[in-house]
Amino acid sequence: MKDLFGREITYLRISVTDRCNFRCSYCMPSEGICKLKHEDILRNEEIVEIVKEMALHGISKIRLTGGEPLIRKGIVDLVREIKQIEGISEITMTTNGYFLEKMLDDLVDAGLDRVNISIDSLKPQRFETITRGGKLDVVLNAIDAAYNSKLRKVKLNTVLIGGFNDDEIEDFVDITKSRNIDVRFIELMPIGVAADWSKDKFVSNDLVLEKASELKPIDYFDKSSPASYYQKEGNLGLVGLINPISCNFCSNCNRIRLTSDGKIKPCLHSDEEIDLLDVIRNHPEDVGDVIKQGVINKPKEHHINDSDFIPIMRDMNKIGG
Ligand code: SAM
Ligand code: SF4
Repeated sequence: MKDLFGREITYLRISVTDRCNFRCSYCMPSEGICKLKHEDILRNEEIVEIVKEMALHGISKIRLTGGEPLIRKGIVDLVREIKQIEGISEITMTTNGYFLEKMLDDLVDAGLDRVNISIDSLKPQRFETITRGGKLDVVLNAIDAAYNSKLRKVKLNTVLIGGFNDDEIEDFVDITKSRNIDVRFIELMPIGVAADWSKDKFVSNDLVLEKASELKPIDYFDKSSPASYYQKEGNLGLVGLINPISCNFCSNCNRIRLTSDGKIKPCLHSDEEIDLLDVIRNHPEDVGDVIKQGVINKPKEHHINDSDFIPIMRDMNKIGG
C-alpha cells in the first residue's frame, strides 16, 4: 500500500487497550481515564480480521501497544493468532514491563519477536513518581528476564524530561555497555496531558550527545526507523535518539495506527481518524476499502513546530505511543 506521497505503508501499531496499571504523568491524567465501554473496544477476533485484511494490502510488521498491552485479557492468544497470519513477518510489543516477567514464556511461545520496555528513571523514588506508583525493581527484573529469553531484541524507551531525568543520561547509556540492549531516548511530545506542560520540560535530544560525548553515529539499515543510532566504542548495545520535535522523520514514515476503539490513525500527530469498528461489525465487505482510505489520508508531515499547531486531544494511552 503506497500513500499519496509514495511511502510504502508496511507497519501497523495496534493499541489493544486504553487502560494501564501505571499513570505516567506525561501520558495519563492522575485520576485515570474515563474507560471505554467493553462493547466499544475491538474484540480479539475483530483485530485478527483487520490484520488479515491489512496483510493483504502489504502490512507485514505489527506492534502491540496501549495503554498497557499486557493487561488486556487474551493478549497471549492475540499474539499467537496475529503471528500465524500469512504475510505478517514480525510481531513486537511496547510495554511498561510490569507484568512481563511472569508472562514472558507464554509470549515467546506465542511468537512474540521483540519487545520495547519503557523506563524513564533508574532511581526508585523518581520512577515511582513519574509512573505514579510503579516499582522500579519489578521492571528491571523484567528487562533482565527479557534479555535472557529467546526474544530477538530488547530495547528500552526513555522519555527525556527537562529537570526530571536529564541528569541520568549517562546512566542510561551505561546500560548498553555489557549487554546488547538498545536504549532509545524519546523527545517528550505535546500530546494529551503533556500538551500543557511548561516549555522547560521539552528538551532536545541534542542534550544526550552533549552529555555522552563519546557516542559516535553509526549507519543503521532501517530507513523507516524513527531513531538515529549511536554507539560508544566497546559497548554492545546502541543508543537511539527519537527526535519527533527537533527533527521530523515523516518522509520515511511507513506506519499507521489502530486504536482500541477501532479508529485508524494515519498520523500520530493529527486528530484525523477513520472508523473501522462500525465497518467491521456492520459492513465487513468494506474493510479493505476503508483501510485504503486510511492510508490515502496519511498527511505528508506533522506540524508540531508550527506556531498555530493545535495539540491533538487524545492522550497517548488512547493512541498507542
Ligand atoms: N504502556 C506501554 C509503555 O509504557 O511502554 C505502551 C504504551 S505507551 C503510550 C508507549 C510509549 O509512549 C512509552 O514509551 C511512553 O513513554 C511513550 N509516551 C507516552 N506519552 C508520551 C509523550 N507525551 N511524549 C513522548 N512519548 C510518550
Ligand atoms: Fe501507561 Fe505506558 Fe502511558 Fe505509562 S506511558 S501511563 S505505562 S500507557
